[in-house]
Amino acid sequence: MMKVMKFGGTSVGSPERMKSVSALITKSGEPTFVVLSAMSGTTNSLVEISDYLYKKNPEGANEVINALEKKYLGHVEELYSTEEYKQKTRDFLKEEFSLLRSSTKDLFTSFEEKCIVAQGEIISTNMVVNYLQEIGVKAILLNALDFMRTDKNSEPDPQYIKKKLTAIMSQNEGCQIYITQGFICRNAYGEIDNLLRGGSDYTASLVGAALQAEEIDIWTDIDGMHNNDPRIVEKTEAVDQLNFEEAAELAYFGAKILHPTCVQPAKYAGIPVRLKNTMAPDAAGTIIDNVLVRGKIKAVAAKDNITAIKIKSSRMLLATGFLRKVFEIFESYQTPIDMITTSEVGVSMSIDNASHVTEIVDELKKYGTVTVDSDMCIICVVGDLDWANLGFETIVLEALKDIPVRMISYGGSNYNISFLIREADKKRALQNLSRVLFQNKTNER
Ligand code: ADP
Ligand code: ASP
Ligand code: MG
Repeated sequence: MMKVMKFGGTSVGSPERMKSVSALITKSGEPTFVVLSAMSGTTNSLVEISDYLYKKNPEGANEVINALEKKYLGHVEELYSTEEYKQKTRDFLKEEFSLLRSSTKDLFTSFEEKCIVAQGEIISTNMVVNYLQEIGVKAILLNALDFMRTDKNSEPDPQYIKKKLTAIMSQNEGCQIYITQGFICRNAYGEIDNLLRGGSDYTASLVGAALQAEEIDIWTDIDGMHNNDPRIVEKTEAVDQLNFEEAAELAYFGAKILHPTCVQPAKYAGIPVRLKNTMAPDAAGTIIDNVLVRGKIKAVAAKDNITAIKIKSSRMLLATGFLRKVFEIFESYQTPIDMITTSEVGVSMSIDNASHVTEIVDELKKYGTVTVDSDMCIICVVGDLDWANLGFETIVLEALKDIPVRMISYGGSNYNISFLIREADKKRALQNLSRVLFQNKTNER
């Protein structure tokens, strides 16, 4: 059984970091499967290049390409010590950058965009494999485009991934380090595609499940899942352990450390996920597994850009099929609903994709009076929130007593209670929750 180790953008963000990663992945001496992101900032630059090309501004795109090329050529000098590997990598980069430049000439569509955005991971993995080979490690690069595949609904196809990857692994037995690109894949039509921003975590989880790995380690720039958003709240702390459901709720509701859907493949395969800090490899990090710790609130997360839609209708009173009609409208615009609350005559729902909100509201008006609140935010409190537990709701509500709450959702799972508030109140809400839940230690029952 193998370990899967995934390193994010900051972890491979400079030649020095690439060397540290190389030391970490070779430390055990055991065969290891490594998933790498693009160097930090690169995917953003590639998105910027695509934006210029969509806007038919090849000069703008070329400026970004030139700056990126200069940066990478500098990295080559720092990373490798032999002229042989410097030249090998320069030759590779030459081809990469001429590919980027060639897309400034023709018609630009989402097909070209996905091809451009994929190059960040292709570059970082080639650079690290070349470095490992230069220092004498038996490392091999496996092309993610040969086995990562999504289906017609743009969902990963685990059966295909497993079949392809198993075959590729059996053709390459005896290596110490197997490296592949996170994020990138092919779609059902064989075209280059990706698993959306932050998707390298998802690759690691899918690969771990396909290989039946003993553990999936996600290495990043912080020592595990913190109990609140460290970008907003001070004095957050790493959580030692989460069960799969708790981690999935946190990832879905805004904890950026994990891609929203990346917990699922590991959970179904029963493979523990460990979150570790590349800058402090000895810190314990967070383990995500099947264990359920009772009686504890573990963490809080927040998801922005939420729109709340309320429909009030006297027709809902004693009517059957009302909710179905409402849901069908959202479904017809492929707009998932996050939160929902009902009363005798009304229903409120929240969505995070507001691109069809005008059409949805127009159709809902056939059935009742509709109101819309934008710039809202979901605050999700995660832990053992089994309904039989006493007092947790009170503590959480106490923390939010000064904040207007638009919706509350509780009882959908045993692991969370969620609140919809104004985005403008988010910081205050998160700070209050940290103070009440984690600094007074009142979260343990
Ligand atoms: P990577 O590039 O390694 O994938 P990300 O930037 O995607 O890293 O995720 C790590 C970042 O997630 C951290 O630097 C931190 O700012 C942010 N983050 C947001 N919420 C949390 C949380 N609850 N716990 C830990 N980190 C969080
Ligand atoms: N490089 C991609 C991004 O920046 C994927 C990832 O890092 O997970 O979104
Ligand atoms: Mg990430």
